[in-house]
Amino acid sequence: MFSQFDLHERLLKAVAELNFTEPTPVQVEAIPPALAGRDLRVTAQTGSGKTAAFVLPVLNRLIGPARPRVSIRAVILLPTRELAQQTLKQVERFAQFTFLKAALVTGGEDFKVQAANLRRCPDILIGTPGRLLEHLNAGHLELNEVEVLVLDEADRMLDMGFAEDVERLCNECAGRQQTLLFSATTGGAALRDIIGKVLKDPQHLMVNSVTDLSANTRQQIITVDHPAHKEQVVQWLLANETYRKAIVFTNTRAMADRVYGHLVALEVKAFVLHGEKDMKDRKLAIDRLKQGGAKVLVATDVAARGLDIDGLDLVINFDLPHNGDEYVHRVGRTGRAGAEGLAISLIGHLDWNRMSSIERYLKQQFERRVIKEVKGTYSGPKKVKASGKAAGTKKKKVEKKTATSKAPAKRKPAAKPSLSSADGMAPLKKR
Ligand code: AMP
Repeated sequence: MFSQFDLHERLLKAVAELNFTEPTPVQVEAIPPALAGRDLRVTAQTGSGKTAAFVLPVLNRLIGPARPRVSIRAVILLPTRELAQQTLKQVERFAQFTFLKAALVTGGEDFKVQAANLRRCPDILIGTPGRLLEHLNAGHLELNEVEVLVLDEADRMLDMGFAEDVERLCNECAGRQQTLLFSATTGGAALRDIIGKVLKDPQHLMVNSVTDLSANTRQQIITVDHPAHKEQVVQWLLANETYRKAIVFTNTRAMADRVYGHLVALEVKAFVLHGEKDMKDRKLAIDRLKQGGAKVLVATDVAARGLDIDGLDLVINFDLPHNGDEYVHRVGRTGRAGAEGLAISLIGHLDWNRMSSIERYLKQQFERRVIKEVKGTYSGPKKVKASGKAAGTKKKKVEKKTATSKAPAKRKPAAKPSLSSADGMAPLKKR
C-alpha cells in the first residue's frame, strides 16, 4: 500500500488514479530514505518501478501552495531523449494534482523553444547532459537554487561518455540538499568515481534482485558448437517458441549486425540496436517494437540499457554476458509484473566456466535444454568440478597443442578481435 509512505495526499491521490496499488521492491526500499532526505545510490533496472521511486520523493519535497516560479528546484539527468520523455510523462502524471511544472531539455529538439521554456522557470527540469550544458553555457540556465538532483541510469550516462558533463552539472547544483543516483548495474571505476564525488554518505540499495529473476523467468542453457550453429538455434527458437517480443543479446556490435542480417535474410521482422546507431534508428526500433511491427530486437548491452518494452518475454543470450550482474540486467527484462518470461543462453565450450560462475552468482542452476532438431555435438564438459566448472580443461589444451600441428593455427585468429573470437568459441573456417 502506498499509504505506508509519508507522502502528501495529492501524490497519494495521483498514485491511486494511476492504479498503482502495491509499491514495487525498489519503491519500498528507496522511498522512505529519500523522503527522509538521504542521498541514495540505488542499483535497480528499468522496469523495476525506479522512476516512481525517485519522482514521488522529489515531488513530495517540492509540493506546497502555489507560488511564483523563480528558480529550478529539481533536476533529473538521464542518458537519452526517450528516457527523458518517459520520465517527464511520469512526473506529469504524479504531479497532476499539484501546482508543480516540469520541462524537458534534450538534444534533437528546438534550442530556442527550449530556451523560452527555461525562461518560464519550471520547478523540475528533466534532460540529457549535453543539451543542458549547452543551455548553461548560453546563459539560459541557473542551477544554484536546485534542491534535489537525480542521476538516472548513471552507468549508461558514463558509458555514453557523459562523465565530465555530468560532473560539471552536479557542481553547478552546488546548493543541493539531496542527490539520488540510480544505475542498472553496479558499474565500474567510472561509476565509483562519480559516486565518490557527488553523493554525501549515501545509502546503497541493491534492488537488482537475483531472487526476483527466478520467480517469473525460466532460465535455460542450450549448448552449441560454433557461431553458425548458434544462428540455427536462434532461428529455431524464434520460429517455435511462444513469445510476444524477444530480445537477442550479443556482446559486440559486429555480432549484433551479423545476427540481425541473418534474421532479416530469413524474413524475421527484426531491428538492431548498438552503439553505432543514432537516436533516429533507436527511436524507430523502439516504436516498431512497441507498436508490434517488429517482434525481435537484436542488441548489445549498452544499446539496450534503459529500454522499457512491454511484453518482452523472451531473452536469448546469443553471446553469454560477461558477468552475473550483466546477466541479471539482461534477463530481468522478462517476467515483469508477474508475467512469465524465458531466458535462454547459448553456451559454447569456451563459455562453460563463465556460465557456471554466473550460476554460482545467482545461486541456481540453469535448466539444460536440448532441441532435437538443432542438436549439435557439444553437450558440456565430460567432467565438472564441484564448482560446476569444467574439470581438467587446461591439461587437455596442452595435450592438444602437442598432439596436432593444426590446433595452434586454428586458435591464432582468436587473439584478434574477430567475430568468432568475440563469442568465445573456436573460429569457423569459412568467414
Ligand atoms: P520504471 O522501472 O520506473 O521504468 O517502471 C516500469 C513500469 O512500471 C512503468 O510503466 C510504471 O508505470 C510501472 N509501475 C511502476 N511502479 C508501479 C507500481 N507500484 N504498480 C504498478 N505499476 C507500476
